[in-house]
Amino acid sequence: MEQIIGTINGIDFTLGETILELSYLISALLFVVGLKLLSHPETARRGNFYAGGGMVLAMITTLLLHKDTGGNGISLTNVWIILSAITMGSVMGWIVARRVKMTAMPQLVSLFNASGGAASALVALLEFPNADMNNLGSVLVTILGLIIGSVAFSGSMIAYGKLDGKVKDIFSGIMTYINLLLLVVVVVLSVYIMISGQTPEQLNWVIYLLLGVSLLYGIMFVMPIGGADMPVVISLLNSFTGIAAAMAGFIYNNQAMILGGILVGAAGTILTLLMCKAMNRSLLNVIIGSFGGGGTSAANQEGGDMKEISLSDASILLSYSKSVVIVPGYGLAVAQAQHVCHELEELLSGKGVNVRFAIHPVAGRMPGHMNVLLAEADVPYNQLVEMENINPDMPNTDVVMVIGANDVVNPAALNDPSSPIAGMPIINAHLAKNIIVMKRGRGKGYAGIENELFFGEKTRLLFGNAKDSLQNLVNEIKSL
Ligand code: NDP
Repeated sequence: MEQIIGTINGIDFTLGETILELSYLISALLFVVGLKLLSHPETARRGNFYAGGGMVLAMITTLLLHKDTGGNGISLTNVWIILSAITMGSVMGWIVARRVKMTAMPQLVSLFNASGGAASALVALLEFPNADMNNLGSVLVTILGLIIGSVAFSGSMIAYGKLDGKVKDIFSGIMTYINLLLLVVVVVLSVYIMISGQTPEQLNWVIYLLLGVSLLYGIMFVMPIGGADMPVVISLLNSFTGIAAAMAGFIYNNQAMILGGILVGAAGTILTLLMCKAMNRSLLNVIIGSFGGGGTSAANQEGGDMKEISLSDASILLSYSKSVVIVPGYGLAVAQAQHVCHELEELLSGKGVNVRFAIHPVAGRMPGHMNVLLAEADVPYNQLVEMENINPDMPNTDVVMVIGANDVVNPAALNDPSSPIAGMPIINAHLAKNIIVMKRGRGKGYAGIENELFFGEKTRLLFGNAKDSLQNLVNEIKSL
């Protein structure tokens, strides 16, 4: 038995317990500082390092110093199992993270969310037989861990499939009612578990039924969400994963887990609310899964002729402009054209052109995608202007250059109520004096709808892979 070195509020602390609690406090500080640093591209790498360090510290001290209520440490067999699992997970994570393309990062984030949700749901499932049924608080956190973890897992797997183009949107009005019904079943089963007065063994079937219904709800809830609404659901699932992890932390009364989970849950919830605001959607709509694809709008029909612009005309137009706004989108990320885009911006700035980048909150395939991409190419942060700040300048802008963006500049969002993206705020590229669009062909954006901007009077298309087109443009401008 270890020597007691102090007593707080009548609870005795051994040296090992004290070091463990202190390490959790340091981990918590590292998580908070890391999260703060993650909020800016210049410090994000360091933030990731700090938060990861906090996690490693918490894992090592738990492995070495955790004691159960009987005062026993983790058994050697379990230590080996845990170390093997950590090694396998780390190797897999390392390989996948190194290989994944920047454009497939959102899919990877969805897989990480799914893993976190599944882990928390499994903790709840395995610990339910040990639950003290007279302690309603502890039963409630176990049930919530199971429900939220399961929804996060199955929902994130569907989100992964959708982002990867493997799962199509399936929307029917009846799904809203099915979702509501599933939610009611989840609540009824949870209340039954809490008030039936039965033992965990007797409630075994209810817990597995609850698991099944929650998994089904996760699938049904994400399935109909389409069009341009996926960013909201991805950040919501991210917050679910955090909350589920916090519930698992409550089950084990582990402060590091609770705090880590709450931080992820809170950050995800704030991001969800910001995304809802950016997409002009209400959170209630997201939760009952009633918005999204399925809309058949006028803009869905083929739009007519697109007028091309030659390289020399584009380079002259850009070089003799006073102000140019670049609207980057998913295509810029696919083409990995951020570096040459920065070169073009420097070239034009050198000629006295005022060049700025207009950042739409859901451009690309993950929150902050364009900021990360442009920061990677060392574009000065002060040249990135948020949508609401750049829009008032659009009518005075000589040229807007849309590079691989589509949905985020689609005027259908403003003037076609039947469009799947109706109500979403856009970058008002259509109001500029001239619009040059770089894309490969007649491909549509994520929402799968036509964009009337591309057929407008003031719009000219520069067809081709964004990286090649930009490189040719840079060469042409240099030769002027
Ligand atoms: P879009 O997906 O709307 O459009 C991308 C455009 O890029 C396409 O029209 C395509 O046309 C073009 N393109 C693709 N590859 C290349 C290439 N190599 N070179 C040049 N052009 C290329 O992108 P946006 O950024 O405008 O919009 C993002 C969409 O994704 C929104 O609907 C958003 O809701 C959704 N979304 C966003 C998430 C987020 O968190 N940011 C998450 C999930 C979804 P073509 O094929 O003709 O080249």
